[in-house]
Amino acid sequence: MIDFSEIVERTHKVIERIKRINESHHYFNYISEDLAITQAEKLKRNPHGKLAGIYVSVKDNICVKGIPSQAGSAILDGYRPVFNATAVQRAIDEGAIIIGKTSQDEFGFGTFSTNTGKGFRHPVNPFDHERAAGGSSGGSAGITALADFPHISLGESTGGSIAAPASFCGVVGLTPTYGRISRYGLIDYASSLDKIGPMAKTVEEAALMLEVVSGHDMKDSTSIDAPVDDYVSYAGKSISGMKVGIIKEAFGKGVSPEVEDAVRAGISRLSDAGAQISEISLPFTSRHCLSSYYILAMCEASTNLAKFCGMRYGAHAPLEGNFNSYFSKVRSENLGEEAKRRIILGTFARMSGFRDAYYMKAMKVRTLIINEYKKALQGIDALVCPTMPILPPKFSEIGKLSPLQNYMMDIMTVGPNLAGLPHISVAAGRVGKLPVGMMLVADHLEEKKLITLGSVLQ
Ligand code: GLN
Repeated sequence: MIDFSEIVERTHKVIERIKRINESHHYFNYISEDLAITQAEKLKRNPHGKLAGIYVSVKDNICVKGIPSQAGSAILDGYRPVFNATAVQRAIDEGAIIIGKTSQDEFGFGTFSTNTGKGFRHPVNPFDHERAAGGSSGGSAGITALADFPHISLGESTGGSIAAPASFCGVVGLTPTYGRISRYGLIDYASSLDKIGPMAKTVEEAALMLEVVSGHDMKDSTSIDAPVDDYVSYAGKSISGMKVGIIKEAFGKGVSPEVEDAVRAGISRLSDAGAQISEISLPFTSRHCLSSYYILAMCEASTNLAKFCGMRYGAHAPLEGNFNSYFSKVRSENLGEEAKRRIILGTFARMSGFRDAYYMKAMKVRTLIINEYKKALQGIDALVCPTMPILPPKFSEIGKLSPLQNYMMDIMTVGPNLAGLPHISVAAGRVGKLPVGMMLVADHLEEKKLITLGSVLQ
């Protein structure tokens, strides 16, 4: 039981602690000290809610009222939303104390949180400072690993940004079904793919946050109007008789042998606990998921980022020349290299003359991928594979990757994201001090199965 008479003092200590962690690890773009203290004072007077006294960090691309919310980009310098994202509002209504905005790849464009925007520092792996924390929700994963106080983070995934950093930092990352959690107040990367989701030390905590923030929202027409399960009650249930399919293509070439060993050991634990294990092949998805994802994600990103033109939000400059030259100046000065690359590629793939060859084709491929997953999940409770093909890489190694080699690291995670399927990454084991994550994928709205299976593994 939390003693609320000292919640304000405790909050001061937590803020001091995260400031210290931040000096060396860079998990926060902004620490919301004043907001946290105000919320703690309110809780002291009136303790209430499922998240009462839990400290919640929020990825920088999720809007928190009055707090800089920049999606890790200099182009949103000075932007302070006048509203809370629905997920944030629901967490606050249940007693959460918001401690800050976590570091990320600019707008979510990356896998290692090294594509940070101008002026931002990139998070480092909690277990080895020379290695990446994963991305794009790297700050959320890192602080989750190091928090020695009650803490849950709200991350966001478009193509794996919850699972990847969860894997590299050894924490739980739960990406829900597309539409399960409202996207209202989420700064868009690719609207048909973006999902907010919890990151936590334990499956129970992730389930608790999911329970609080899920559900239909009038402010997001893509949010699903289906009842929210009592997710927490599914943790620790027996998995006896549950059916788990190993994705055949997810092992072997391109996967580091240490990762494979750790994940196979995790699968044995599922089997020992009574799960029935079989092998499932996803040949089409394995072959085409990356190309389909990167075309669609870049197309959507290029339109979503058009609104950042130096007139409406954030960064601006003295008005000179015509609109086009002004627009280009503000964008070229404030967007990072990867953001520019994606805007250019996404715009190209949508141009008349190319649209059918790229965008429309990628959409058709996406439908076939959804169909392949739906078929595979008939009679199966979850699919399993490594979350990332490699151990957390060194920054010096990432620097040598070409953009394409970089995108290939998402081979396991983009498939379920394209299909809008819920997935969870939990630690399978460690190689030395470095964590290895394994990923379970379930059918739409079957988060409860992931919670049950995941809780066996932790
Ligand atoms: N690494 C993927 C990308 O760069 C996924 C990122 C994300 O989920 N935001 O698009």
